[in-house]
Amino acid sequence: MLDINGAVEAEWPDEGVAAHYGDPVREQRGMAEGQVLVDRTNRGVVKVTGPDRLSWLHSLTSQHLERLSPGRTEQALILSPQGHLEHHLSLTDDGAATWIHVEPHTAKALVDYLDSMRFMLRVTVEDRSAELGVLTLAGPLPAEGGVLSNTYAGGARPVLADGVGGRDGVGGRDGVGGRDGESEVAAVLDGPFGTDLIAASDAAARLAAAYPVAGLWAFEAARIAARVPRPGLDTDHKTLPHEVGLIETAVHLNKGCYRGQETVARIHNLGHPPRRLVFLHLDGSADRLPAHGAPLTHPDGTQVGFVGSAARHFELGPIALGLVKRSLDPGATLLADGIAAAQEVIVAPDAGANVKVTLRRDSVPQPPAGRRTLLSSGGRLMLRKALLAAAASERIRQAAMSAPGAQAIVGRYVAGESSEGAVAVARALRSAGLLVTLDYLGEDTTDARRASATAAQYVHLLGKLAVEGLTEGGAVEVSVKPTAIGLLLGMNDEGAGAGRRPPDSGEIGVRIATEHLERIVTAARDAGTTVTVDAEDHRTTQAGLRVAAALRPRFGSLGSVLQAALRRTEADVRELAAPGVRVRLCKGAYAEPASEAYDVRHDIDKSFARCLRILMAGPGYPMIATHDPRLIAITRSLGLARPAGSFEYQMLYGVRPDEQRRLAASGAKVRVYVPYGGDWYPYLVRRLAERPANLALFLRSLGSQS
Ligand code: FAD
Repeated sequence: MLDINGAVEAEWPDEGVAAHYGDPVREQRGMAEGQVLVDRTNRGVVKVTGPDRLSWLHSLTSQHLERLSPGRTEQALILSPQGHLEHHLSLTDDGAATWIHVEPHTAKALVDYLDSMRFMLRVTVEDRSAELGVLTLAGPLPAEGGVLSNTYAGGARPVLADGVGGRDGVGGRDGVGGRDGESEVAAVLDGPFGTDLIAASDAAARLAAAYPVAGLWAFEAARIAARVPRPGLDTDHKTLPHEVGLIETAVHLNKGCYRGQETVARIHNLGHPPRRLVFLHLDGSADRLPAHGAPLTHPDGTQVGFVGSAARHFELGPIALGLVKRSLDPGATLLADGIAAAQEVIVAPDAGANVKVTLRRDSVPQPPAGRRTLLSSGGRLMLRKALLAAAASERIRQAAMSAPGAQAIVGRYVAGESSEGAVAVARALRSAGLLVTLDYLGEDTTDARRASATAAQYVHLLGKLAVEGLTEGGAVEVSVKPTAIGLLLGMNDEGAGAGRRPPDSGEIGVRIATEHLERIVTAARDAGTTVTVDAEDHRTTQAGLRVAAALRPRFGSLGSVLQAALRRTEADVRELAAPGVRVRLCKGAYAEPASEAYDVRHDIDKSFARCLRILMAGPGYPMIATHDPRLIAITRSLGLARPAGSFEYQMLYGVRPDEQRRLAASGAKVRVYVPYGGDWYPYLVRRLAERPANLALFLRSLGSQS
């Protein structure tokens, strides 16, 4: 695809494919919003045939492949005898052959190694890199129509070799024949950022006519932002799988022996891999990116690791991955090739340890249960745990709330401490064409007077909004946290205060919260607007839904919030997808136990997409609360089938404000969630935990106080 106008060839290790096609930022944006075609034909392609192929690959690699079913994608590693990473394989099987793609320039070495291990088995290994390559359809899947839909050039759909299938819109045995009876698209794999097609080179031109194209810079920026390491760039000759977080994706921990397995098992049992992968937020004022392999240094001048891959991300700015010594302080700011870099933990310093480290972890003071923010990996867990543990300290809370520098960050997310400030922000947002929901900050109230005062504050606010004409048609509504209006009352004080609540809040709390909510909902109805009941941690989910359900027969517009992170939510969504019911769907802002919630970002996103489809196909009023470009794109396409105005997007005050305006300008209903009040600290901590770059700024502002 280098012959496409404007194509600029990438440098090592990606020679032969385009870095970009003239506008790398637009290409990234395109990839975030819809499907784009990325030329990765420089990757190596290996085909393995023969009846023994799966059991043989099973014995050589880190993955359980013996019973790999046709069409399924797996990642597998080939390790050195010392457990160092040698090859990272993405593979699928079509019932007759296993198709593998690997890093550029490595197929020959892989084939040589595999050939050397054949020992009379019925397998054949071929390096097919010369005539086949990887084409990736990256970006959100279309809402309907499957991976390739009908947009493939000329309406002809790519065809797969017999036996591969199971992908909507792809497959079949009826189409274009390829070389030696093979199809033009030899295999389809699930990649981390879309669909990888192993295809003949002429497929590239045909797909490029049907899809927008994006260069490898866009793909790499998305990969780095997703914290996915790339072997060869983010690893070196002595990298262990635990160090770079490949255990979850490419290693099966309960399979038989393979080369390097002893090292994997040892680290799994004892922990302490020597190094760990980190995500780096780079100082945006530098006009260059750090060079690959450049040293990562501590402020005291000692080298602590090296820079892997780096990119300019269209939203995050300059970012990189690095491999550092395990013992490095996760809070230290580093220099990456001379550029200031804030670390975010990807692989936790104790990664891989099981029993022993679990015990050690237990001795570390924990943040209050349910008050931890949502995480996607052990590493992020560490950072957020540290943040939320710090957040639980009264001393830090006081320092944060009085730090002059911190106010600038607070002001980005919170509309001041008074209802006047909130009303002013609501007015400004209304004049920009946006809808608003106002939240009076405060949660976990264990004081009956405070719960009652919170309800009174809402009633007062609604009166003010009505006088200003802002509540008309529900343009400005309110959001209420059940624990702010008494859901926790009547519980054992010790338990509530320490965040160790009983599995569900007691009857007294439910009754009090219901009474207060009724006051608020009545005031809202009188003002001509609506109320939405926020969702908090899973221990309050059932009770919060009960409170809303008790009032909904009399107040039909009372909304509820459901969190895609919780395993129960799909069932809750089905139950609430009833005529006219207002349901806000969000990812969920609390860290929850794995028994209750998905703890991998990808699984949460998938759950969100499933719930989204149910809501958007149903007769209720969906309120889709996310800033995630992919989920917004899916919502947009599902929305095409709904009557105009029958759903809305929701975003937080201060998060992606340009996108809020852009969506509203395109005719969509967009509501901004605006918190206000003096008790902004826990809310701010949740927002910072979602965006560690802001955390670095915030901590700097605390530092500048002294
Ligand atoms: P993410 O994957 O977290 O973010 C996607 C992208 O959005 C990021 O890449 C980034 O570009 C941008 N982004 C996200 N957060 C930030 C940030 N803080 N600063 C800057 N950029 C950011 N959670 C609950 O548990 N209960 C609720 O009742 C609830 N109500 C909500 C109401 C609204 C209107 C919204 C928008 C969210 C609500 N949430 C609630 C929070 C929600 O659960 C998520 O924690 C939060 O929205 C981040 O998830 P995301 O969908 O934006 O996706």
